[in-house]
This record gives sequence, structure tokens and C-alpha cells, in this order.
Amino acid sequence: MDVSTTKKRLVWTMWAILFPIGMVYSYIKYPPNLSDISLDMVWFLLLMVGSALVPMVVNRTTIFFVLWTSIATFLLFGLFIEILFIQIALLFLMAKVKPGKGDSYKYPLNSLMFLIVSLLSGITFYALGGQNDLITLGNGRDILLILAYTFVYFASNQACLMFLSRAILNVKRKLFSKDFIWEAASLCLVLPLGMVLFVLYKEMGVISAFLVGIPFFSVAIILKLYNSADIVNEHLQKATDIGHELTQSLKAREVIDLFMNRIVSIFPVSHAYILDVVDNKELHLIRRYENGDNLSLDIDPLIRHEGIAGEVWASQKAALYHSRSEWQTIAKGYMPEGVESVLSVPIMRNQKVVGVLLLATPQKQAYENYQLMIVDILCSYLAIALENARNYELTKKESERCALTGLYNYRYFEKLIETEYQHLKEKKYNDLSLILIDIDHFKSINDTYGHQSGNEVLRALADRLLQFFGDQGIVARYGGEEFVILLPDVPKKEALALAETLRVMIANRPFSVEQQLTQSRSRSLIRITASIGVANAPEDAEDYLTLIRHADYAMYVGAKRRGRNKVSEYQSIQANV
Ligand code: GH3
Ligand code: MG
Ligand code: MG
Repeated sequence: MDVSTTKKRLVWTMWAILFPIGMVYSYIKYPPNLSDISLDMVWFLLLMVGSALVPMVVNRTTIFFVLWTSIATFLLFGLFIEILFIQIALLFLMAKVKPGKGDSYKYPLNSLMFLIVSLLSGITFYALGGQNDLITLGNGRDILLILAYTFVYFASNQACLMFLSRAILNVKRKLFSKDFIWEAASLCLVLPLGMVLFVLYKEMGVISAFLVGIPFFSVAIILKLYNSADIVNEHLQKATDIGHELTQSLKAREVIDLFMNRIVSIFPVSHAYILDVVDNKELHLIRRYENGDNLSLDIDPLIRHEGIAGEVWASQKAALYHSRSEWQTIAKGYMPEGVESVLSVPIMRNQKVVGVLLLATPQKQAYENYQLMIVDILCSYLAIALENARNYELTKKESERCALTGLYNYRYFEKLIETEYQHLKEKKYNDLSLILIDIDHFKSINDTYGHQSGNEVLRALADRLLQFFGDQGIVARYGGEEFVILLPDVPKKEALALAETLRVMIANRPFSVEQQLTQSRSRSLIRITASIGVANAPEDAEDYLTLIRHADYAMYVGAKRRGRNKVSEYQSIQANV
């Protein structure tokens, strides 16, 4: 939620004007009875600060029960003291929450809201004839006065919240939201508690603060602990689910995408980075997520001990920072503007750091230790899932491709041609052409320059074929020095023209090889030629195996036998036999 600077300024200005007026007004109109001022008041202030600092967490909703202390303070010491104490308690609360740099406007906002609520409810009380000295709670009239005070307190609080959400944060707060219901229900607890505190204080003095305070704070702390355990359990469960999801993905990219997606959804994260350890020398950024967008990666690599991530890499230990001042001296290189809390965890595999994850957010104190533990678990899953995916990709590549040239091998090519033939049958396109190439007298290259040099030629030719056909054709190694190119949606005439251009290109552009069979090992340029056969479906074949066979036939009979360095098509030979 971005609040514009103008609005923030407006909030500060309104506070600067209204706050002193409110304070002075309440002091003059309802002056505190200074003869009543005693050390006992300090206990009430402590109770109020305590209830602001230890809110109750019920069912994941945080509720500040301040009314029980503020109503007793109000009844005992009057409006001005109540306002003063509430404002002091608010200062403590703000010091605990530590709003980030751009969020300091939240202090005047809350201060004003409490001031308005205190004033409205207090003025109502006095307007209806309430008097601090006379109130005893021993009669119906007093009870009615308290109810009126509470009603105005609650209603004006809700009205302020609704108005401010709308005006400042641009969010529509529903009247009967979850918070509203919790706050209304909590009144049933705090109102009697406040009255008990008031009556007890009148009866027995300051001991009442302990009698009421101790059970209240015990319950608040127990609820908080229970709630934290509950949240940790839920996060652990989520981490396990994400772990399963991750290990099911078979592509490294998908694994990382999924990981990022999940991590930003379960943690308060505005910035997330994954860095990869490259050659055990540098950390390279491989994923950069900032405020909902995946951004470009043009950020300089880090070395060991450099910056937060470099330190995490070197120490193999996670790092958790609550605010900018804690990491400012460590950070190096790129660190986004406005970020405060940072959590960085090494991604480990076999006791070695293979990467580093860094999460950040503009809020201070955003991450807790248990979150670090959960991110650590997730990073272990990530490391395993990435290794699985990379192994799978490697095995897949090895089973599909020829090790020498990196082209598809024949076994995999058969699958591809079967699929493409199916497409042809389904009329996704009307032509499927096939070009088959066999290098002429290749044996003599091996014999003259050595087998390794022969390999060099095969690799270079493979590269040329890939470059020449690009996306238009699927290039595969058919056998030893034979290559095949499948051309979906390319008519025979066009395939023949391509084959002819290719033949000329092979014959005219020499290949560089190393002379392996002599001492000198010099490099030389050699020329080769190739014989090429072309066939097309549906013209020349009714199934894919025949298509291959006929291209092979065209190559041998039409090109090799007729003197090599030629392109031949299947049908023309038929006509000439
Ligand atoms: P032509 O096709 O013109 O009739 O003559 P050729 O010499 O190319 O014919 P042949 O099919 O008899 O020989 C193919 C040669 O290719 C045999 C083998 O030594 C060589 N060869 C096959 N696979 C490889 C390989 O992976 N690397 C190298 N260096 N040579 C290979
Ligand atoms: Mg051959
Ligand atoms: Mg040959």
C-alpha cells in the first residue's frame, strides 16, 4: 500500500495542529485534580504500556486491549491523564513496531486517532453529567454512563478506522469485518475488567493493578506462545508440501520458478534473489524478483566474503538482519533502495554451498528465527530438486543426442519423424520433406588426417547444418558420416533447392582440421563434398519408414552412383530406371 508523500505530509500537518489543541483543550476544560496526583498513577501507566506492548493474539488476529486500563484511568484520574497515558503507551508501541523509513506517518496517524476517540468518549461522559469524583459504579446511572462512554469509544474508533483506511490508505474497510467482530467481542472481556480494576483500586489501592494485571498478562503471553507454535506448524506443513512439489518438477527452470513463487507467497518478501556458485569462484545472480516482477540480471558477480551473499557463501551459515543499520557495512554491490530486513541462506548440496538465497523487505524486524529455519529447509529441498532436474535433463540429453555432434541421434529422430508424419496425416501441413546427406570418400579423410580430424569435420558439418536450417528443419545424425534433415511443411521443390544450396556450401567452404598423423600437427583446410538424397511425403511415401528409405535410395542410386557431389530426388530416379 503506497501512501503518497502529499498525504503523509498532510497527516503530519494535521497532527501538528490538532494534537496541541486537543491536549490544551482537555487540560483547560477538564483539568486534572492535581491534589490526586500520586505515585499510583505510574502503575496505571505501566499497565497501559504493558497492554499496548503485549497484545492478545487470538486466532491469528492481533487485538490491543487497552480499554480496560484506559477506562479505569479515565474514571479515576480524568480525561487529560487518560489522553496523556494513551499517547505515552502509543510511543512505546511505535518504538516496538519500528515503522520503516517511509512509514513514520503512522505515528501521527495513530496518535490523532486515539486523541479523537479519547476526546469524544470523555466529552460524552462529562456531557451526560459524569463526574470523576462522584462515580462509584454502585448505581444504575453510573453503569449507564460507563456504557455510553464505551459505546462512543468503540463507535468513534471504528468510524476513525473506516475513514482513515479510505482517506489515507485507499482501502475500503468493511463495517462488519473480522476485526470489527473481534474488537466488539473483546469489549465483553475488557469492559468488566476495567470496572473491576476501578472498583478494586478504590477499595484496596495499588495492589489492584497486580490482581487484575497478572492474570491478564499471563493469558496474553500464553495465547501468544500458542499462536506462534501454531504458525510454525503451519509453515512447516507448507514447507513439506512445497518440497514435494519441487521434487516433482523435472526442469531446472521450472524448479526455480516454483520455488520463487512459493517463497514470496508464504513469507513477507518484496525482494528475492537466487545466486549460483559458478566454478567455485563467483556468485552469479540467476533470479531477481523485485516487487512482483522478474527483472533482468545485469548485476556484477560477487566473490567469496563479498557482500551479504558472499559472506553467507564463505561462512556456510545463514544470516538474519532486522534493519538496514545491521547490514549496511557488510553489503557490497547491488542492494535495493528502502530495504530493511534481510534473510540470506546458503543452498547446500553434499556439504558444499551451491548457491545463495537472499530475501528482503522494507519492513524492519520482518523475519524471525523460525522463518530462517523454514527457509533453510526449503533451500535443502531446492538443492535436491535442482540436482534431480539437472540429472534428468542430462540423462534425457544423453539418450536423445549424439555425444560427438550434439545432434539428435537416430533413435530419437525416429520418434520425431513419427510425430511429424502424424501431423502430416492430420493435415496440420501438406508436405513433409526429408534430406539425407552422406559425405563422399570420408574414409580417406580419416586415413589421411586421422580419426580425430575426421571427427572435427563431422562436428563442424553438424554446426553448419544447424545454422543452415535453423528452425525450418530438424537435423539429426543418421549414421557414421550421414546426416538427415526433416523439413515439415516444406514442399519437395523447396527441399531440393535447399539441398542444392547446401551441397554447394559444403563443397565450396573448406573445413579446418589438425593433421594428426604427422609430427608437425599443423592445421590445414580441406575440401569435402557430399551426396544428397531428397524425398517427400505424401508424394514419394505412405509411411515415415518408406520416406527415409526412399531418400536413402535417392542418395545412393541417384547421387553416389552417378559420381557423388550431387543432389538427387526420389521420383526422378524411378522414372529413369
Ligand atoms: P562414400 O560414402 O563416398 O562411398 O565413401 P565413404 O568413405 O564415405 O564411405 P563408407 O561408408 O565406406 O565409409 C564411411 C567411413 O566413415 C567409415 C568410417 O571410417 C568413417 N566414419 C564413420 N563414423 C565415423 C566417426 O564417427 N568418426 C570418424 N572420424 N569417422 C567415421
Ligand atoms: Mg556412409
Ligand atoms: Mg560416405
